[in-house]
Amino acid sequence: MKKLFFIIIFFYIQTHAQQKPFISLDSIKAYVIKDSIRKDSIKKHFLTTNWDNRKFNPYKNVTVEFPFEISFDDVFYASPIPKDYVITSRYGWRWGRAHKGIDIDLITGDEVYAVLDGKVRYVGYHSGHGRTVIIRHYNGLETVYAHLSRYKVKVNDIVKKGQVIAKGGNTGNSKGSHLHLETLYKGKHINPEYLFSFDQKHKINKPHFWVTRDYVTPFLHNSKRETEFEYYATREEAENSEGIQQQVYVVKRGDTLYKISRRYNVSISRICKANSIRKNSTLRIGQELVL
Ligand SMILES: [Zn+2]
Repeated sequence: MKKLFFIIIFFYIQTHAQQKPFISLDSIKAYVIKDSIRKDSIKKHFLTTNWDNRKFNPYKNVTVEFPFEISFDDVFYASPIPKDYVITSRYGWRWGRAHKGIDIDLITGDEVYAVLDGKVRYVGYHSGHGRTVIIRHYNGLETVYAHLSRYKVKVNDIVKKGQVIAKGGNTGNSKGSHLHLETLYKGKHINPEYLFSFDQKHKINKPHFWVTRDYVTPFLHNSKRETEFEYYATREEAENSEGIQQQVYVVKRGDTLYKISRRYNVSISRICKANSIRKNSTLRIGQELVL
């Protein structure tokens, strides 16, 4: 009986050892090294590609494919200002125009901090934005800090999350001192609240997700209301959601395919294909277009 018991135990260990091979320390080390090489190459890519210290948007001639993925190594970001948030305007449609960032109240002279680690890509006066600092982060995201009064960094400086980069102000097209903060990926303005929770916890909403056109199109958001966000963990989920959210646009006076394409972040060829029209077709007022 005792012998049989040992035989059973022996076979049990044998079969289970085969089913679940023991993970060696070496394979874990190899994975960690491989992962850090991958992260380094992404980092290098973003710090060398379309790196231009003179242009506000160096991605003007770059076509961005949707959806695109974005990931963060951090769980928290650093607040860009030294006090609690008072949001005076959100990302979205405002006074018939696109407001491509979020407005956070501050007093001229308040310190402004980098929200994540990165490298300073642009420091200078930009029409509308006034004195501006742009930081490119290692995941490709860029943060724009506008209406500043003073700069505390120079181009190509490496900055740490929470480091002072400027003093807030009221320069450019601004009524009253505030920080206008934009978040861009390859020149596309993402709703900042999609990425970061603007409460006092400073959490990054999700470590990894796929961004659809909807979240880089101010026209689909309202600067007075918080958008209800949906997060897509896979390319497939994101693509399926784009199919559902396809919309019908009614052509208004003065519209051109170019204007509609810019406003909705849909390429002209996509609009043409979806509506069986040509690039040089004349649009009628009241005509319906599937976007
Ligand atoms: Zn603003």
